[in-house]
Amino acid sequence: MTKTYIFGHKNPDTDAISSAIIMADFEQLRGNHEAKAYRLGEVGPETQYALDYFNISAPELLNDDLSDQNVILVDHNEFQQSADSIADATVQHVIDHHRIANFETAVPLYYRAEPVGCTATILYKMYKERGFEIKPEIAGLMISAIISDSLLFKSPTCTEQDVQAAEVLKTIADVDLESYGLDMLKAGASTKDKSAADILTMDAKSFNMGDYTTRIAQVNTVDIDEVFARQEELEKAMLETSADEKYDLFVLVVTDIINSDSKILVVGAEKDKVGSAFNVALENNAAFLPGVVSRKKQVVPQITEALTK
Ligand code: MN
Ligand code: MN
Repeated sequence: MTKTYIFGHKNPDTDAISSAIIMADFEQLRGNHEAKAYRLGEVGPETQYALDYFNISAPELLNDDLSDQNVILVDHNEFQQSADSIADATVQHVIDHHRIANFETAVPLYYRAEPVGCTATILYKMYKERGFEIKPEIAGLMISAIISDSLLFKSPTCTEQDVQAAEVLKTIADVDLESYGLDMLKAGASTKDKSAADILTMDAKSFNMGDYTTRIAQVNTVDIDEVFARQEELEKAMLETSADEKYDLFVLVVTDIINSDSKILVVGAEKDKVGSAFNVALENNAAFLPGVVSRKKQVVPQITEALTK
């Protein structure tokens, strides 16, 4: 049997890492013994907390050329967020909860997209549909991914299905959702020890928006001011990266996980359009966005519209 590579997006978050591990387990249960989880980048502190808590090792970093290899994509579909050689791979299956963009395959495939809050919620449903047993550590990873993507169920991306999945899974994994969830989020929310480069790359994605390439990084914090105290250093790094990588716009979304608000920092020639996307004027390249926590629902569509109209 040929190998199946399973991985989430670059700059992996907890859902990208967890869903790759969960999907590999699902494939094993399905009889695909050559299925293996990989990651496309470093494991962040929040994800590491979850892996340690449930005693699971991180997937191997993907270094192989994927030409003509079988792959399963989880938690993404856009090729610029995927492995560098993805265009030459055979995509067999996609499990995702994002917009579908810049995605094309040469052969037919399975594609499961649902507008729920987390890829792991879709995977949970797949286990249920097959009647597969969910092991405690797999349940723990599912919970971790759901809490991470939904910011403890507070994000507008969170659906009833995500909440219900977590309610069932907490018994299997034997955790208290609130206390475990807050500890896990806090593990990933300290910005003090992070360099500007860390803050800008930990959870960053590129998007094609009309004629523009927009880089949107998000960082969770319990203190927005702690991050903005380093605004100058961050802007310098954002401008340098934009020049190197040819980003037209670079947006940093600093999200307060306790109060569920964000403050954005924007550089690029069209930065004022980002302000207009949120009906605010940027002040010193920044704007406070009350109630905004979701890049996918409350940031990407708004900026896309402002740049393409
Ligand atoms: Mn993700
Ligand atoms: Mn996700």
